[in-house]
Amino acid sequence: MNFYVLTLFPDMINEAMSHSIMGRAQNEGLINVRAIDIRDFSKDKNRRVDDYPYGGGCGMVMQAGPVFDAFTYAKSLSPDKPRLLYMSPKGRPFSQKTAEELSKEENIIILCGHYEGIDERVTDRLSPEEISIGDFVLSGGEIAALAVMDSVSRLIPGVLGKEESFARESFSEGLLEYPQYTRPYEFMGSEVPDILLSGHHKNISGWRRKKSLEETFKKRPDLLKTACLTEEDSAYINELKKNCSKPE
Ligand code: SAH
Repeated sequence: MNFYVLTLFPDMINEAMSHSIMGRAQNEGLINVRAIDIRDFSKDKNRRVDDYPYGGGCGMVMQAGPVFDAFTYAKSLSPDKPRLLYMSPKGRPFSQKTAEELSKEENIIILCGHYEGIDERVTDRLSPEEISIGDFVLSGGEIAALAVMDSVSRLIPGVLGKEESFARESFSEGLLEYPQYTRPYEFMGSEVPDILLSGHHKNISGWRRKKSLEETFKKRPDLLKTACLTEEDSAYINELKKNCSKPE
């Protein structure tokens, strides 16, 4: 998978993607991240890429020319037709489902805005998919692009240590993940649930499913509307509902 990131801050991208799982995935050639500095495409002698907004108002706007030329360059590097994403608070909300879908792509160009955003004529012309990482405003698209690249990359076979590492993670089946524990067995008087030490895989997996349902019920009940639930799951949810409506 090749990521081409169009940015004013290539160091932010390169640095953040060089650590831990992402760094290893790059070293092993499973992903390839290429940060392209939009400033390299400025025709200004001071490498300027922004200007005042027409119509007035505060802040600066990224000019169309350098962004468009940076995109054309990125496209020329990409062997197949790349998918083009524009990180934007106006975009479609990013989700695990989108990450799964993007993980099947070979080439993704990600455009990061800065300042007040990018001259509308670039997005008119390129029609990128606008993606938002949440209903809040960042000062630049880099952090959003990193979030997208990280979550997409870890779904690529071989990137995580074990294939199944993400199979039961939060959102993968529309539910939140069960609680996790590691050594020591006892921490400040609180012990790890005994079932996890039983070595009985079927019971452990049943316990985890219930905990996963409990977590979702407590923290993100909205997810239960669309999660894939068995009859047994639904019965357990009904039990949880009954227990929480009982008077103290
Ligand atoms: N003036 C714009 C915000 C610009 S923020 C507005 O009100 O809509 C500057 C850049 O940060 C954007 O161009 C975008 O690339 C990035 N950005 C900000 N918030 C984001 C979000 N929630 N998701 C993805 N990218 C975001």
